Amino acid sequence: MRAAVLHGVGKITLEERPRPEPGPRDVLVQVASVGTCGSDVHYYEHGRIGDFVVESPLVLGHEPSGTVVGTGARAHRHRLGQRVSLEPGIPDFTCWQCRAGRYNLCPRMRFFGTPPVDGAFCEYVVVHEEFAYPVPDDLSDDAAALIEPLSVGMWACGKARVGPGTRVLVTGAGPVGLLCLQAAQAFGATDIMVTDVNPVRLGLARDLGATATLDARENDLLDAAFDPDVLLECSGHPAAAGAAIRAVGRAGRIVLIGMGGDEIPLPLAHVQAHELEVTGTFRYANTWPQAIVLAASGRVQLDALVTGHYGLAEVEQALTAGTHDPALVKAVVRPQE
Ligand SMILES: [Zn+2]
Repeated sequence: MRAAVLHGVGKITLEERPRPEPGPRDVLVQVASVGTCGSDVHYYEHGRIGDFVVESPLVLGHEPSGTVVGTGARAHRHRLGQRVSLEPGIPDFTCWQCRAGRYNLCPRMRFFGTPPVDGAFCEYVVVHEEFAYPVPDDLSDDAAALIEPLSVGMWACGKARVGPGTRVLVTGAGPVGLLCLQAAQAFGATDIMVTDVNPVRLGLARDLGATATLDARENDLLDAAFDPDVLLECSGHPAAAGAAIRAVGRAGRIVLIGMGGDEIPLPLAHVQAHELEVTGTFRYANTWPQAIVLAASGRVQLDALVTGHYGLAEVEQALTAGTHDPALVKAVVRPQE
Protein backbone atom coordinates (compact mmCIF):
# COMPACT_ATOMS: atom_id res chain seq x y z
CA MET A 1 0.00 0.00 0.00
CA ARG A 2 1.01 3.63 -0.33
CA ALA A 3 1.82 5.65 2.81
CA ALA A 4 2.90 9.26 3.34
CA VAL A 5 5.85 9.00 5.74
CA LEU A 6 7.39 11.78 7.82
CA HIS A 7 11.21 11.57 7.73
CA GLY A 8 12.20 14.42 10.02
CA VAL A 9 11.22 18.06 10.06
CA GLY A 10 9.56 19.27 6.84
CA LYS A 11 10.06 16.07 4.86
CA ILE A 12 7.24 13.69 3.90
CA THR A 13 7.70 11.09 1.17
CA LEU A 14 5.25 8.72 -0.49
CA GLU A 15 6.35 5.11 -0.01
CA GLU A 16 5.21 1.55 -0.59
CA ARG A 17 4.68 -0.37 2.63
CA PRO A 18 3.19 -3.80 3.34
CA ARG A 19 -0.54 -3.71 3.99
CA PRO A 20 -1.05 -4.21 7.75
CA GLU A 21 -2.44 -7.55 8.96
CA PRO A 22 -5.32 -7.38 11.44
CA GLY A 23 -4.74 -9.02 14.82
CA PRO A 24 -7.39 -11.40 16.22
CA ARG A 25 -9.75 -8.66 17.43
CA ASP A 26 -8.81 -6.06 14.75
CA VAL A 27 -10.49 -4.92 11.58
CA LEU A 28 -8.63 -3.91 8.41
CA VAL A 29 -9.99 -0.57 7.18
CA GLN A 30 -9.53 0.97 3.74
CA VAL A 31 -9.08 4.64 4.63
CA ALA A 32 -11.51 7.07 2.94
CA SER A 33 -10.94 10.49 4.58
CA VAL A 34 -8.45 11.75 7.16
CA GLY A 35 -8.76 15.19 8.71
CA THR A 36 -5.56 17.15 9.21
CA CYS A 37 -4.98 18.55 12.68
CA GLY A 38 -2.79 21.23 14.17
CA SER A 39 -0.81 18.49 15.91
CA ASP A 40 0.03 16.88 12.52
CA VAL A 41 1.28 20.29 11.36
CA HIS A 42 3.30 20.67 14.56
CA TYR A 43 5.03 17.30 14.13
CA TYR A 44 5.74 18.17 10.49
CA GLU A 45 7.22 21.56 11.35
CA HIS A 46 8.95 20.80 14.66
CA GLY A 47 9.36 17.01 14.93
CA ARG A 48 7.95 16.90 18.44
CA ILE A 49 5.09 17.89 20.74
CA GLY A 50 6.25 18.13 24.34
CA ASP A 51 7.58 14.73 25.36
CA PHE A 52 6.44 13.05 22.11
CA VAL A 53 9.44 13.13 19.77
CA VAL A 54 9.58 11.78 16.20
CA GLU A 55 12.72 9.59 16.32
CA SER A 56 11.99 7.24 13.40
CA PRO A 57 9.89 7.45 10.21
CA LEU A 58 6.25 8.12 11.14
CA VAL A 59 2.90 8.16 9.35
CA LEU A 60 0.82 11.08 10.67
CA GLY A 61 -2.99 11.41 10.62
CA HIS A 62 -5.41 10.53 13.43
CA GLU A 63 -8.85 11.57 12.14
CA PRO A 64 -9.77 8.64 9.86
CA SER A 65 -12.90 7.19 8.37
CA GLY A 66 -13.13 4.27 5.97
CA THR A 67 -14.61 0.91 5.08
CA VAL A 68 -14.04 -2.46 6.76
CA VAL A 69 -12.36 -4.74 4.20
CA GLY A 70 -10.95 -7.44 6.46
CA THR A 71 -11.44 -8.89 9.94
CA GLY A 72 -9.26 -10.75 12.43
CA ALA A 73 -10.06 -14.33 13.43
CA ARG A 74 -12.04 -13.29 16.53
CA ALA A 75 -13.43 -9.94 15.28
CA HIS A 76 -17.16 -10.33 14.70
CA ARG A 77 -18.57 -6.86 15.28
CA HIS A 78 -18.53 -5.60 11.66
CA ARG A 79 -19.46 -7.02 8.29
CA LEU A 80 -17.19 -6.44 5.29
CA GLY A 81 -18.17 -3.22 3.52
CA GLN A 82 -19.30 -1.47 6.73
CA ARG A 83 -18.43 2.25 6.70
CA VAL A 84 -16.82 3.28 9.98
CA SER A 85 -15.40 6.21 11.92
CA LEU A 86 -12.23 5.27 13.80
CA GLU A 87 -11.39 6.27 17.35
CA PRO A 88 -7.62 6.57 16.97
CA GLY A 89 -6.37 5.86 20.50
CA ILE A 90 -6.33 2.34 21.93
CA PRO A 91 -5.67 2.21 25.70
CA ASP A 92 -4.30 -0.85 27.50
CA PHE A 93 -7.67 -1.51 29.26
CA THR A 94 -5.91 -2.69 32.45
CA CYS A 95 -4.04 0.21 34.10
CA TRP A 96 -5.50 2.19 36.98
CA GLN A 97 -6.62 5.11 34.77
CA CYS A 98 -8.46 2.72 32.45
CA ARG A 99 -10.04 0.87 35.38
CA ALA A 100 -11.10 4.22 36.88
CA GLY A 101 -12.93 5.05 33.65
CA ARG A 102 -10.42 7.62 32.38
CA TYR A 103 -9.00 5.71 29.46
CA ASN A 104 -7.98 8.96 27.72
CA LEU A 105 -5.32 9.28 30.46
CA CYS A 106 -3.96 5.74 29.99
CA PRO A 107 -0.14 6.06 30.12
CA ARG A 108 0.19 3.18 27.67
CA MET A 109 -2.26 4.61 25.12
CA ARG A 110 -1.31 3.78 21.53
CA PHE A 111 -2.53 6.76 19.51
CA PHE A 112 -2.49 7.07 15.72
CA GLY A 113 0.13 9.44 14.32
CA THR A 114 1.84 9.92 17.68
CA PRO A 115 5.39 8.57 18.06
CA PRO A 116 6.03 5.67 17.79
CA VAL A 117 2.57 4.67 16.45
CA ASP A 118 1.80 5.15 12.77
CA GLY A 119 -1.34 7.03 11.74
CA ALA A 120 -3.73 7.06 8.81
CA PHE A 121 -2.14 9.04 5.97
CA CYS A 122 -1.99 5.70 4.10
CA GLU A 123 -4.34 3.40 2.22
CA TYR A 124 -5.11 0.85 4.98
CA VAL A 125 -5.01 0.76 8.78
CA VAL A 126 -5.87 -1.84 11.38
CA VAL A 127 -7.72 -1.01 14.58
CA HIS A 128 -9.39 -2.94 17.41
CA GLU A 129 -12.95 -3.71 16.28
CA GLU A 130 -14.43 -1.92 19.30
CA PHE A 131 -12.75 1.33 18.17
CA ALA A 132 -14.36 1.23 14.71
CA TYR A 133 -17.88 2.67 14.88
CA PRO A 134 -20.48 2.15 12.13
CA VAL A 135 -21.79 5.34 10.55
CA PRO A 136 -25.09 5.78 8.69
CA ASP A 137 -25.05 6.01 4.88
CA ASP A 138 -26.00 9.69 4.84
CA LEU A 139 -22.96 10.71 6.91
CA SER A 140 -20.16 11.58 4.47
CA ASP A 141 -16.67 10.10 4.66
CA ASP A 142 -15.35 13.54 5.65
CA ALA A 143 -17.95 13.93 8.41
CA ALA A 144 -17.16 10.43 9.69
CA ALA A 145 -13.50 11.49 9.92
CA LEU A 146 -14.34 14.70 11.77
CA ILE A 147 -16.09 12.76 14.54
CA GLU A 148 -12.60 12.86 16.11
CA PRO A 149 -12.28 16.64 16.55
CA LEU A 150 -16.01 16.83 17.40
CA SER A 151 -15.18 14.45 20.24
CA VAL A 152 -12.60 16.94 21.51
CA GLY A 153 -15.33 19.60 21.66
CA MET A 154 -17.84 17.32 23.33
CA TRP A 155 -15.31 16.17 25.94
CA ALA A 156 -14.44 19.81 26.69
CA CYS A 157 -18.13 20.73 27.05
CA GLY A 158 -18.56 17.83 29.43
CA LYS A 159 -15.57 18.98 31.50
CA ALA A 160 -17.10 22.49 31.62
CA ARG A 161 -20.54 21.10 32.55
CA VAL A 162 -22.20 22.96 29.67
CA GLY A 163 -25.95 22.48 29.94
CA PRO A 164 -29.26 24.13 29.08
CA GLY A 165 -28.88 27.91 29.11
CA THR A 166 -25.15 27.98 29.82
CA ARG A 167 -23.42 31.11 28.49
CA VAL A 168 -20.26 30.05 26.68
CA LEU A 169 -17.25 31.99 25.42
CA VAL A 170 -15.16 30.23 22.78
CA THR A 171 -11.77 31.84 22.10
CA GLY A 172 -10.34 30.75 18.76
CA ALA A 173 -12.48 29.85 15.72
CA GLY A 174 -10.29 27.16 14.17
CA PRO A 175 -11.76 23.71 13.61
CA VAL A 176 -11.76 22.78 17.30
CA GLY A 177 -13.25 26.14 18.31
CA LEU A 178 -16.02 25.78 15.72
CA LEU A 179 -16.69 22.25 16.97
CA CYS A 180 -16.70 23.42 20.60
CA LEU A 181 -19.29 26.01 19.50
CA GLN A 182 -21.47 23.34 17.92
CA ALA A 183 -21.00 20.86 20.76
CA ALA A 184 -21.99 23.58 23.25
CA GLN A 185 -25.16 24.24 21.24
CA ALA A 186 -25.96 20.54 21.20
CA PHE A 187 -25.43 20.41 24.99
CA GLY A 188 -28.03 23.19 25.40
CA ALA A 189 -26.01 26.40 25.52
CA THR A 190 -28.00 29.36 24.21
CA ASP A 191 -25.66 32.37 24.30
CA ILE A 192 -22.32 31.57 22.68
CA MET A 193 -19.72 34.19 21.80
CA VAL A 194 -16.79 33.26 19.57
CA THR A 195 -13.63 35.38 19.28
CA ASP A 196 -10.84 35.23 16.71
CA VAL A 197 -8.66 37.54 14.63
CA ASN A 198 -9.76 35.99 11.31
CA PRO A 199 -12.95 37.50 9.83
CA VAL A 200 -13.56 34.49 7.56
CA ARG A 201 -13.61 32.16 10.53
CA LEU A 202 -15.81 34.54 12.53
CA GLY A 203 -18.28 34.55 9.64
CA LEU A 204 -18.32 30.77 9.67
CA ALA A 205 -18.91 30.84 13.43
CA ARG A 206 -22.00 33.02 12.87
CA ASP A 207 -23.21 30.68 10.11
CA LEU A 208 -22.84 27.77 12.52
CA GLY A 209 -24.91 29.44 15.23
CA ALA A 210 -22.70 31.69 17.34
CA THR A 211 -24.99 34.32 18.87
CA ALA A 212 -22.14 36.84 18.96
CA THR A 213 -18.65 37.13 17.50
CA LEU A 214 -15.82 39.45 18.38
CA ASP A 215 -12.74 40.36 16.34
CA ALA A 216 -10.04 40.39 19.00
CA ARG A 217 -7.86 42.76 16.92
CA GLU A 218 -10.45 45.53 17.13
CA ASN A 219 -12.40 44.96 20.33
CA ASP A 220 -11.62 44.32 23.97
CA LEU A 221 -13.43 41.34 25.42
CA LEU A 222 -14.07 43.15 28.70
CA ASP A 223 -15.99 45.88 26.80
CA ALA A 224 -18.26 43.32 25.16
CA ALA A 225 -20.70 43.06 28.09
CA PHE A 226 -20.74 39.28 27.82
CA ASP A 227 -20.68 37.44 31.12
CA PRO A 228 -19.86 33.81 30.35
CA ASP A 229 -20.35 30.87 32.70
CA VAL A 230 -17.86 28.86 30.71
CA LEU A 231 -14.70 29.60 28.72
CA LEU A 232 -13.59 27.07 26.14
CA GLU A 233 -10.08 28.33 25.32
CA CYS A 234 -9.19 27.12 21.84
CA SER A 235 -6.77 29.81 20.65
CA GLY A 236 -3.68 28.50 22.42
CA HIS A 237 -2.56 32.13 22.49
CA PRO A 238 -1.21 32.98 25.96
CA ALA A 239 -2.30 36.63 26.01
CA ALA A 240 -5.75 35.83 24.58
CA ALA A 241 -6.24 33.07 27.12
CA GLY A 242 -5.23 35.29 30.03
CA ALA A 243 -7.58 38.06 28.88
CA ALA A 244 -10.46 35.65 28.36
CA ILE A 245 -10.11 34.20 31.86
CA ARG A 246 -10.75 37.71 33.24
CA ALA A 247 -14.08 37.79 31.40
CA VAL A 248 -15.42 34.69 33.16
CA GLY A 249 -17.97 35.37 35.88
CA ARG A 250 -18.50 33.93 39.35
CA ALA A 251 -18.24 30.14 39.75
CA GLY A 252 -17.26 29.94 36.10
CA ARG A 253 -15.51 27.00 34.48
CA ILE A 254 -12.49 27.34 32.20
CA VAL A 255 -11.29 24.53 29.97
CA LEU A 256 -7.90 24.95 28.27
CA ILE A 257 -8.04 23.17 24.91
CA GLY A 258 -5.78 25.14 22.56
CA MET A 259 -2.12 24.20 22.50
CA GLY A 260 0.19 27.16 22.14
CA GLY A 261 2.83 28.30 24.58
CA ASP A 262 3.63 26.11 27.56
CA GLU A 263 2.62 28.85 29.97
CA ILE A 264 -0.15 31.45 30.13
CA PRO A 265 -0.60 34.40 32.49
CA LEU A 266 -3.19 33.38 35.08
CA PRO A 267 -5.05 36.29 36.75
CA LEU A 268 -4.92 34.58 40.13
CA ALA A 269 -6.85 37.13 42.18
CA HIS A 270 -9.71 36.97 39.69
CA VAL A 271 -9.68 33.16 39.78
CA GLN A 272 -9.70 33.16 43.59
CA ALA A 273 -12.30 35.86 44.14
CA HIS A 274 -14.71 34.30 41.64
CA GLU A 275 -14.08 30.66 42.58
CA LEU A 276 -13.22 29.83 38.99
CA GLU A 277 -12.39 26.28 38.02
CA VAL A 278 -9.49 25.96 35.57
CA THR A 279 -8.83 22.59 33.99
CA GLY A 280 -6.99 21.01 31.12
CA THR A 281 -8.51 18.49 28.76
CA PHE A 282 -6.81 15.59 27.01
CA ARG A 283 -8.48 13.96 24.01
CA TYR A 284 -11.79 12.26 25.00
CA ALA A 285 -13.39 9.07 26.28
CA ASN A 286 -16.64 7.35 25.25
CA THR A 287 -17.72 10.14 22.89
CA TRP A 288 -18.08 8.36 19.52
CA PRO A 289 -21.66 7.02 19.79
CA GLN A 290 -23.11 10.39 20.81
CA ALA A 291 -20.93 12.31 18.34
CA ILE A 292 -22.13 10.15 15.45
CA VAL A 293 -25.76 10.68 16.47
CA LEU A 294 -25.29 14.46 16.68
CA ALA A 295 -23.62 14.61 13.27
CA ALA A 296 -26.08 12.23 11.58
CA SER A 297 -29.07 14.14 12.93
CA GLY A 298 -27.74 17.43 11.56
CA ARG A 299 -27.43 18.96 15.03
CA VAL A 300 -23.71 19.39 14.30
CA GLN A 301 -22.46 20.29 10.83
CA LEU A 302 -19.10 18.76 10.00
CA ASP A 303 -18.92 19.02 6.20
CA ALA A 304 -19.19 22.81 6.54
CA LEU A 305 -15.69 22.90 8.03
CA VAL A 306 -13.98 21.14 5.11
CA THR A 307 -12.30 23.66 2.83
CA GLY A 308 -9.92 21.48 0.82
CA HIS A 309 -9.21 17.91 -0.32
CA TYR A 310 -5.77 16.45 -0.98
CA GLY A 311 -4.52 13.12 -2.32
CA LEU A 312 -1.94 10.98 -0.56
CA ALA A 313 0.84 12.55 -2.65
CA GLU A 314 -0.25 15.99 -1.42
CA VAL A 315 -0.05 15.53 2.37
CA GLU A 316 2.63 18.23 2.67
CA GLN A 317 0.39 20.68 0.80
CA ALA A 318 -2.52 19.71 3.08
CA LEU A 319 -0.41 20.40 6.19
CA THR A 320 0.97 23.73 4.96
CA ALA A 321 -2.12 25.09 3.19
CA GLY A 322 -3.28 26.92 6.31
CA THR A 323 -0.16 29.05 6.47
CA HIS A 324 -0.81 30.40 2.97
CA ASP A 325 -4.61 30.72 3.03
CA PRO A 326 -6.43 32.42 5.92
CA ALA A 327 -9.74 31.11 4.55
CA LEU A 328 -8.69 27.51 5.07
CA VAL A 329 -10.40 25.81 7.99
CA LYS A 330 -10.04 22.03 7.62
CA ALA A 331 -7.96 20.22 5.03
CA VAL A 332 -8.90 16.59 4.43
CA VAL A 333 -6.60 13.93 2.92
CA ARG A 334 -8.26 11.26 0.76
CA PRO A 335 -5.69 8.41 0.60
CA GLN A 336 -7.40 6.57 -2.27
CA GLU A 337 -6.84 9.59 -4.55
ZN1 LIG B 1 -4.63 2.07 30.60
